[in-house]
Amino acid sequence: MIIDSHQHFVRLARHPEVEGFRQAQLAGNNPDALPNISDADVQKTLEQVISLMDTRAIDVAFASPRAKAMATHEGTAEQNAIWADLNNSLILRACKLNPGRFVPVGMLGQHPSYPSAQIAKQIERWANDGFAAFNFDPDGTGGRWQGLPFTGKHNYPVFEAAQSLDVPLVLHGSESINKNFPHTAVQYLIADITGFVQLMMAKELFKDFPRLRFLIPHGGGALPCQIGRWRAIGKYNSWASPDEILGNGNVFVDTCVYNDLNMQMLFDAVPLDNILFGSECDGAFPGIINDETKDHYDNTRRYVDDSKLTSAEKDRVYAANARRVYPRASRWIKS
Ligand SMILES: [Zn+2]
Repeated sequence: MIIDSHQHFVRLARHPEVEGFRQAQLAGNNPDALPNISDADVQKTLEQVISLMDTRAIDVAFASPRAKAMATHEGTAEQNAIWADLNNSLILRACKLNPGRFVPVGMLGQHPSYPSAQIAKQIERWANDGFAAFNFDPDGTGGRWQGLPFTGKHNYPVFEAAQSLDVPLVLHGSESINKNFPHTAVQYLIADITGFVQLMMAKELFKDFPRLRFLIPHGGGALPCQIGRWRAIGKYNSWASPDEILGNGNVFVDTCVYNDLNMQMLFDAVPLDNILFGSECDGAFPGIINDETKDHYDNTRRYVDDSKLTSAEKDRVYAANARRVYPRASRWIKS
């Protein structure tokens, strides 16, 4: 069994009806009706990703809305709730149309005004509909980073809902309005690094929510090469150490790094029980070839297969960890 814990339905999100809906919202013309997209149209947007999964022998993927398009720095709190619900409903349909292949991961109607009670209700609604986790942007201001650290009490209703419903929060960045920080190349990694360090700094968070779990995507940002720095700074500032938040089972990372060297560094830096296989297949840089492997960069199976892990260790990374960290995924996975 191979589970890809990090996928986005980018082509579905780029359907003209979906993008048109958001554009109308942001222009102030709040549409009365949600886009009317046929099952055949939904399925067509998934053909490429299903074909790549088959080629790479990936059984199941955890799929969420396009991260860039979450863009919750735009719109009102009410518009963003509707926008998140629309994206989640499309994800759910896509998963139901392909039984056994996908597990739904949602987005949330975040807004700089912190509508936490509304977001908590959204988590409850979609978790009850089968969602296994939710993407949560630790910035939410479009790359301006003008908000409070996300670990603060303003988000406690969100954390209460996530803990009680046993759904991890994936700390995933979104659109950047700053052209110095392209979203996939910089802003997402800044979100990973910032999210991880804020979790080290948050002294009360895991005392208040001991079973709360966060997934830091893209190999934990700079974690494979900078864990030593954060061990030192954690001691210097009396923050939690990286090893403490990983070891307590509160923080996990995925394998979305794109070469053998950095994959091995990830396995050396982070305990194996904290690493979930992921690829961002067909999302971040579709079809781009790695000159070393002559294969797509995002075929991260190659780098895991080529690593020094034993086959039992690979099994943990490929499936067992994902099933343990995302317990609500089990209803979607054929055993
Ligand atoms: Zn992603």
